[in-house]
Amino acid sequence: MSAPARSFPLALDALADWRADAACREIDVEVFFAIDEAAQREAIAVCETCPVRQECLEHAVANREQYGVWGGLREQDRKRLVRARRRDAA
Ligand code: SF4
Repeated sequence: MSAPARSFPLALDALADWRADAACREIDVEVFFAIDEAAQREAIAVCETCPVRQECLEHAVANREQYGVWGGLREQDRKRLVRARRRDAA
């Protein structure tokens, strides 16, 4: 089986070498940006096995990624996390 043309996480860069260990690196990116709940659950299940889940989540939060599943959280889950962190910091 060959890797899909576009896999997730999207680009490799020197500042994000955690991506080399991503559980999703050979999975079609569409799975992580799907709108339907079943596909989102599929993405989250991959994230739950991922050794760099925390790094991925912090990357998404720091870069205000608006779409997709990152670090096992959907966009609405990340917004809740950010609000909770702000409340805790206040
Ligand atoms: S946590 Fe999920 S989206 Fe992030 S790198 Fe791992 S498998 Fe990919």
